[in-house]
Amino acid sequence: MHVIFSAINRYYLSVQCVSGLVAFAAATGVMPLDMPESVLVRFKGKLQDGVTLRDLVNAIPYYAIKQGLLTVAKQGKKNIFSGRILEIEGLPDLKVEQAFELSDAAAERSAAACAVQLDKAPIIEYMTSNITLMKWMIANGYEDKRTLGRRIKAMEAWIAKPELLKADAGAEYAAVIEIDLADVKEPIVACPNDPDDVKLLSEVSGTKIDEVFIGSCMTNIGHFRAAGKVLEGKSDIPTRLWVAPPTKMDAMILNEEGYYAILGKSGARMEMPGCSLCMGNQAQIRKGSTAMSTSTRNFPNRLGIDTNVYLGSAELASICALMGKIPTVAEYMEGVKAVNAKAADVYRYMNFDKIAEFRDVAATVTV
Ligand code: SF4
Repeated sequence: MHVIFSAINRYYLSVQCVSGLVAFAAATGVMPLDMPESVLVRFKGKLQDGVTLRDLVNAIPYYAIKQGLLTVAKQGKKNIFSGRILEIEGLPDLKVEQAFELSDAAAERSAAACAVQLDKAPIIEYMTSNITLMKWMIANGYEDKRTLGRRIKAMEAWIAKPELLKADAGAEYAAVIEIDLADVKEPIVACPNDPDDVKLLSEVSGTKIDEVFIGSCMTNIGHFRAAGKVLEGKSDIPTRLWVAPPTKMDAMILNEEGYYAILGKSGARMEMPGCSLCMGNQAQIRKGSTAMSTSTRNFPNRLGIDTNVYLGSAELASICALMGKIPTVAEYMEGVKAVNAKAADVYRYMNFDKIAEFRDVAATVTV
């Protein structure tokens, strides 16, 4: 079961846990956890133009394969991450939404959990936003009101005296993977049908793409604005494009900002917010088709029967939708220019405390 903790832990942990453990915790009120060893992934340097967080998600297995810590073949498979904690350092300024994208992929590595070391500022920003959201939820009758109230108080207390856990100096790891961002010069994609089978864009460019899915819990509002910028003014795209924002709030804001209209005019099918095609039971891509997807995993038949699914960023997926093929690096860099030109506007995250319709309603709630 894939659980994203929704209390304070949510800010840096995504955990796979077994139902027996959950049942034990429910019955006794405590959850005994033997902490496994960690694998440290240390990023350094500056993100290169055109390289996205999703490419860094795929960079982790890419570098692990290079170091002999991960193999793709099923027989005798080696996976250093399996059952261990994935600790990520070197990207302290990430917004929490971006850190989610990295931690969400820990499940694909078969890791037991993921911790992303962030500075206090992005966490305070995210909690401040979520306090407004939870007050808005209380005002709108969401349950359980007392649980929401307790979470608000816990967050307010943490913000008043923010302290973060840190690795001990000299901590030992099962393995250390260093990734110099200066060396990641082009997108990295997971190839059909294994999230560990990662390749550089230049190794797969030219592949015909029939369908594109932009959605799942790996995405946030910035990804949909980016897709909108790539597809703005376009129509009659040669692929079937499915777009599903992860939450109703994302859908509402994207609609207000005109991105639903832009994407709809391009020919995209705007799906109900949520897991959508990633879940595999709401809709499926055509049997035997080849797709580029932003979803978490590409296990055989998950997005559709006998399909071949590549996993990559929303930026790359929207360019694939436009071209009907995986672009060359040069075509990709040309395509993302429209996104980069408006990066500050595109990659704005949902700060509910700055959105009047949430802030004004939240102000009526006292916890
Ligand atoms: S989007 Fe996909 S991976 Fe994420 S919770 Fe839904 S089904 Fe699971």
